[in-house]
Amino acid sequence: RPVVIFLAAVITMGIIIMVAISVVQYKPLHQKYKYGIVLDAGSSHTSVFIYEWPAEKENNTGMVRQKHTCNVKGKGISSYSNNPKGAGASLQECMQEAKQKIPTHRHHETPVYLGATAGMRLLKMENEEASENVLDSVAHSLKGYPFSYQGARIITGQEEGAFGWITVNYLSENLRKPTGTLGALDLGGASTQITFVPQQEIESHDNSINFRLYGNDYHLYTHSFLCYGKDQVLKLSMGKKLESTLKDDVLRDPCFHPGFNFTRTVQSVFNTPCMKEVKMANENFFHLGLGDWSQCQQSIRKVFNTSFCPYSRCSFNGVFQPSVDGDFGAFSAFFFVMDFLNLTSDTLAGTKQKLATYCSTPWKKMTENHPNTKEKYLSEYCFSATYILTLLEDGYKFTSDNWKDIRFIKKIGDSDAGWTLGYMLNMTNMIPAEAPDTPLMPYG
Ligand code: AMP
Repeated sequence: RPVVIFLAAVITMGIIIMVAISVVQYKPLHQKYKYGIVLDAGSSHTSVFIYEWPAEKENNTGMVRQKHTCNVKGKGISSYSNNPKGAGASLQECMQEAKQKIPTHRHHETPVYLGATAGMRLLKMENEEASENVLDSVAHSLKGYPFSYQGARIITGQEEGAFGWITVNYLSENLRKPTGTLGALDLGGASTQITFVPQQEIESHDNSINFRLYGNDYHLYTHSFLCYGKDQVLKLSMGKKLESTLKDDVLRDPCFHPGFNFTRTVQSVFNTPCMKEVKMANENFFHLGLGDWSQCQQSIRKVFNTSFCPYSRCSFNGVFQPSVDGDFGAFSAFFFVMDFLNLTSDTLAGTKQKLATYCSTPWKKMTENHPNTKEKYLSEYCFSATYILTLLEDGYKFTSDNWKDIRFIKKIGDSDAGWTLGYMLNMTNMIPAEAPDTPLMPYG
């Protein structure tokens, strides 16, 4: 009998210990990670970013990392102005994927944000009702998922610049150290942003943004140029050339490869609030490439107005800009274009030389050498790179001396450089000013 009792006691103890171990193991497993979702509704496309961080270390720097991205098929949400329902529907595949990637027990507490940028800013200028319908449609679609819906809105250019700056400095772990910060250069299809800590006083209130992060004060200069994303500047620059040849139905374009020949509608150039409509004699025109880099640069210079400046110094279009200072991360289309052309680590003079050769390469040779590259991108790289160079040198006043301070980057660690991570860190109060609960809102 005592032996039976002893065995029973041992077995019971064993069961208790096993249950205890499984409970202990189970709990931390459940508490391990938290998640957040941000949709970047850009002018040409929408991307869904899923972030994750250890559940117990939310307020530590460098803890949030990108777990997954999904590119929504088709164009950006602003292209659904005539079919707003399609905008919401377009998100379905990526949002289903998000459901798979995030553990089910975390779904209900996972915040989801959608931020729309310059494509929607332009649609709002053109047709406010259409932009509201598109936003309603994506909001309705996102509310249909088990996540915690936190809003779908058009973010301002200032937010886009400032959150991009926070992202690159958070990921580079610059925010807790007294060492320097990284300026942020962002290029989209419809706008471009420059944000950095300047050495001099900011003379215009609109370009000034102040943060207190981890006990340090940051006084940032930021500006977003609406209509100066690469797709809009292409329209601006083609529009200017078309205007000067009003009756002609041929546009000879130095920014496209020799032998490039494409029929376009006049409407496809002027269908933007960035330009006033010009009455042309023809509906269509032939877009012919000439492949002349230096003429291309001259034509691009015409989209920058440098004839007036109400401040001590300006970039262009009368916008105040202090002199650029320190290292910069140049991401989004800055990276796509310069990376494709292998121009991420040349000198300024070397970049110009390579670009001149590249632009003069016949279109036939281009398509033969790059059979797998989208033809639209391939045809535009000469223009885009020339615009990037002109924007950085003539616009922002980078020189051959500080050209090396521009780092063309896509990611830092596992995470993409862009405004989305900074936006989520801010919205979830994950970067404390000092006390962990102080929200980070721009002031000043
Ligand atoms: P947005 O949609 O406003 O964020 O702008 C992104 C810009 O990058 C658009 O001008 C796109 O055409 C461009 N883009 C995206 N991927 C590539 C790529 N692989 N090569 C060249 N341009 C790209």
